[in-house]
Amino acid sequence: MHPHLASLLDLQSKDVALLAADHQLDDLLREREALDQAVQRAKAEVDQCDRAWRDGVKLREELELKIESFRTIQERRRQRIEQVRGAREAQALMTEIDQARSTMAKEENDWLNSAERVNQLEAKLQEAGARATALEEEQREARATLEARRSAVDAERAAAAGAREKSATEVEKSLRMRYDRLRSNRRGSVVVSLAGVACSACYTQVPMSRRNQILMGSLIDGCEACGVLLYAGGPSE
Ligand SMILES: [Zn+2]
Repeated sequence: MHPHLASLLDLQSKDVALLAADHQLDDLLREREALDQAVQRAKAEVDQCDRAWRDGVKLREELELKIESFRTIQERRRQRIEQVRGAREAQALMTEIDQARSTMAKEENDWLNSAERVNQLEAKLQEAGARATALEEEQREARATLEARRSAVDAERAAAAGAREKSATEVEKSLRMRYDRLRSNRRGSVVVSLAGVACSACYTQVPMSRRNQILMGSLIDGCEACGVLLYAGGPSE
């Protein structure tokens, strides 16, 4: 076995542990993001219901004003009818009053519908508000659990990072620089065993002379094709 191999493989295993902690942290962040998004959706629904309710109230108030002004005009017609002398003029006013009455009946019906609609919209708004509150209540426990997991994983990650740094000091310097450079460019393992006559990362055949040196433990060398550091002693050796 190459004298620097054990420390190099140890460093790689520490990096794997560190990466696992990072992935766990990413998962936790995604879970929290999902909770946040659910709350945002619930709140957006409340806002939408609130806008619809306000629009409904506005319409109802406009109809109230309209009816109010109709009533005033109608009242004036009634007063005028008492003052007119000619029968024809009185008849014309009567017709006007009748027409206005049916228009007003229609407006009042519209107002009733709008008032009914405002009640419905208000109920919807209250339901949406209650749902949003309930959701936040429901999430309280999940968020507390997430926070606790987050603290645990943070601690794990810090321990893994510490262990990694300690292992790194054990690796021969030039090899470590080579390893670190490879790690920054690659996903997955950067120190891999020979698989028979080939690199076990890319399965490119390794020339015999170098293979023999690797097998004898006198060389830790990079794969010519993919760059990983090759050693002897994997499962297929
Ligand atoms: Zn390779």
